[in-house]
Amino acid sequence: DTVVCDESFVHKTILVGDSGVGKTSFLVQFDTGKFQHGCFAATVGIGFTTKTVLTPEGSVKLQIWDTAGQERFRSITHAYYRDAHALLLLYDVTSKSSFDNIRAWLAEIKEYAHDDAVIVLIANKADMQSSRVIRREDGERLAAEFSVTFMETSAKNGHNVTHAFQMIATNLRQRQ
Ligand code: GDP
Ligand code: MG
Repeated sequence: DTVVCDESFVHKTILVGDSGVGKTSFLVQFDTGKFQHGCFAATVGIGFTTKTVLTPEGSVKLQIWDTAGQERFRSITHAYYRDAHALLLLYDVTSKSSFDNIRAWLAEIKEYAHDDAVIVLIANKADMQSSRVIRREDGERLAAEFSVTFMETSAKNGHNVTHAFQMIATNLRQRQ
C-alpha cells in the first residue's frame, strides 16, 4: 500500500536536567493535567508517553521520554540524545546547582544531539516565588548565549506546560 500522507510519524522528545527539577511532574502535568505531590521514585519513571499536539499547521505526534535515574552528568547514553528530535532541558528556579549544571547539560546536548534538534530551556517551579534564587533574566541570558528557546513554567499549577510542547510541535511541524 502506498502511504499518501503519513501522519503517524512520531517525534522523539526527551526531558533532561538534574534530579528533582520536576521532569516527571512536568510530564505528568502535560499528560493528565494534574500535579502529584512528592518525589517520584527514580525507578518508577513513567518511561514515555505519546501525545498528539495540534498546531496551526496540523497535528504532531510526540513520544515524550522522561529521564529517570540517569540524571547524573554523562550517565545518559549518547544514543538517547542522537535520535531525539526535541529536548526539554529543565532547571529549578529555587536550586542554584540545577541552574549551574545547565551549562554542562547544554555542552553534552550540543555534542551528542542532532544539530537541528529543537531545544527549549525550561525554568521550572516558577510558582515558588518566595524561595526563587534564579531570576528570569539569568535564564534568558543563558538561553540567548546558547541560542535556545526559554520558558518559565510550573508543573504544579500548569503554567506554560502545554505551551512548551505546543511550541516544540509547531517548530517540528514547520520543518517537515
Ligand atoms: P524529577 O526528579 O526531575 O523527575 O523531579 P520530580 O518530578 O520528581 O519533582 C521533584 C519535586 O519537586 C517533587 O516534590 C515535586 O512535587 C516538586 N515539583 C516539581 N515540579 C514543581 C513545580 O513546578 N512547582 C513546585 N512547587 N514543585 C514542583
Ligand atoms: Mg523523575
